[in-house]
Amino acid sequence: MFAKKTIKDIDVTNKKVLVRVDFNVPIKDGVVSDDTRIRAALPTIEYLLDKNAAVILCSHLGRPKDCVDLQYSLKPVAEYLGTLIPQKVLFAEDCIGPVAEKAAQALENGQVLVLENTRFHAEEKKNDPAMAKELASLADIFVNDAFGSAHRAHASTAGIADYLPAVAGFLMEKEIQYLGQVIEDPERPFIAILGGAKVSDKIGVIRNLLQKADQVLIGGGMANTFFKAQGYPVGDSLVEDDVLDVARELVEQGSNKLRLPVDMVIADKFEDDATQKTMPTGPVPDGWRILDIGPETVTAYAKEIAGAKTVVWNGPMGVFEFPNFAKGTFAIAKAVAESGAVSIIGGGDSVSAVNKSGLADKISHISTGGGASLEMLEGIELPGLAVLQDK
Ligand code: AMP
Repeated sequence: MFAKKTIKDIDVTNKKVLVRVDFNVPIKDGVVSDDTRIRAALPTIEYLLDKNAAVILCSHLGRPKDCVDLQYSLKPVAEYLGTLIPQKVLFAEDCIGPVAEKAAQALENGQVLVLENTRFHAEEKKNDPAMAKELASLADIFVNDAFGSAHRAHASTAGIADYLPAVAGFLMEKEIQYLGQVIEDPERPFIAILGGAKVSDKIGVIRNLLQKADQVLIGGGMANTFFKAQGYPVGDSLVEDDVLDVARELVEQGSNKLRLPVDMVIADKFEDDATQKTMPTGPVPDGWRILDIGPETVTAYAKEIAGAKTVVWNGPMGVFEFPNFAKGTFAIAKAVAESGAVSIIGGGDSVSAVNKSGLADKISHISTGGGASLEMLEGIELPGLAVLQDK
């Protein structure tokens, strides 16, 4: 059960509602190139418009250096949103200060106003109370629908809740329900698949999942660090020497749950057209590097996944950006999609792999937040959720 109030639990009719959305979308040449996160916010926006609210949207985009940098402007996103909904979408060139105040005051019920990038102000990431208060002054109610930013305690995700009644939007509710269910009461067998470049990013997640899941299947670059920790030279593979001890400890802790690849695809250079060989897990020759899991590993992992009732996947199984080393990742995407299990995929690369494979509609839940979903899986309370009113 979702323990926080949502927009359904309070009266939003004819109110000014400030919604923190996650419009941190890729933009190429001034045009939105992937609108997943914008579409994911539509149920909340449409519900509020239906209630004749005046909807003010704020978000960060990219990583501007704490000042105005127009390559990270939300203006193209506002324009794009205008093509998705029939209502008028206005844009304010600042998220606080006189420009924002004037635009918010002039906003009529049933209209939408998108504010400029919150990270154009250094105070956003500092969770500065003055900025939070200024943002809050624009509206009567605060809604956090930015699951993808909920692991950050920033002025627009957390601080603002000190100054306004604060509730969750529908996307936040949906994300937390799926991920919360997995962590609290998964249908078993519960299989977690973790890949990606680094083990250091996911130590806490692996620890927690070794307790909660029935199997933790490891792939991608992070497997290399486990191999090296077990004493195999990994040639020129990506490896993190500073966490070898932790990797060793996790292998011990996870004795019968932590699974490592049994074979691998190695390459003589870090390029798509490299010469490749498949070999059983073991010492990698000098000058070669591991770029994908091998077919035996795919078979073994796919078997576990096929028998699962719950599957969580974060991180590619290899350098899937190179088509010649993407087989492992796509095979796992297929296995997850066809498993019939409750399946949750998070993290930009695994999501993009499943989208490219054309199997996305077979996945129960594709998370819009990589970092936030990992923190949920780690069992950490998200600050952007914690500040919302309890039911
Ligand atoms: P992450 O952001 O940690 O999920 O890592 C994603 C990145 O890991 C992708 O860009 C992959 O190319 C990379 N990756 C996966 N497997 C390997 C590998 N064996 N060697 C180097 N990079 C890898």
